[in-house]
Amino acid sequence: MEKIREKITQAFEGTVMGENLKRLSQIYDETDEECGEFCRRYNVHCTEGCGTCCENFVPDITPVEAEFVAAYILLVKNDLTLINRIQAQGHTFCPLYDRENPHHCQVYPVRPLVCRLFGQCPSRMKDGSADFRRCRFEGGKNMPSYLHFDSPDVKTMDDYGIRVHEISSDVSNLDEAVARALGTVFLTSSYLGILGVHLDDDTPNPTPSPQAS
Ligand code: SF4
Ligand code: SF4
Repeated sequence: MEKIREKITQAFEGTVMGENLKRLSQIYDETDEECGEFCRRYNVHCTEGCGTCCENFVPDITPVEAEFVAAYILLVKNDLTLINRIQAQGHTFCPLYDRENPHHCQVYPVRPLVCRLFGQCPSRMKDGSADFRRCRFEGGKNMPSYLHFDSPDVKTMDDYGIRVHEISSDVSNLDEAVARALGTVFLTSSYLGILGVHLDDDTPNPTPSPQAS
């Protein structure tokens, strides 16, 4: 488990939130490892420095994914500007995206599942096969345009998504979900007496893109 995710789950140990964060973190670890293996095997790479997908959508996420992001913002970043931006709502691109930062995602170690999968993982087809299609923002230099797998053993976005939905099934827009989760995490942190605690993040900077793990 990435060190900072471990620190956050430990901070909430003994609570339902802590248990859910731990389960989610294990899913993230397995997703990163398996998608990384898929990308290495089939030569799928994002364009260096690219973050165009983050500029073109606001992901839908579950409450526990939002709690991880909110806990990271409150206990690691403690960034009031970012909190205000999220609470402003109505964003047309992800409010956690920073165009000026070469690594773009401001919550990289706790980014939601879809951000770990987009452009890196096949989708399940109706007949049970799996298709990978190149991200439409990638020019064709770093990814094959199309891969098809007949085997049901190839993991798809659905396989990972189902596991996250087993923890919590509600889904909402990232800015709404994180704004709500900031309140929940703030309250739980107050009860636990950890409000104001600062957790250091020593996660290495991502290369080459927000999604690539
Ligand atoms: S999936 Fe990769 S190549 Fe496509 S827009 Fe996102 S970062 Fe760029
Ligand atoms: S990778 Fe980060 S900036 Fe990009 S959409 Fe996901 S949370 Fe937002």
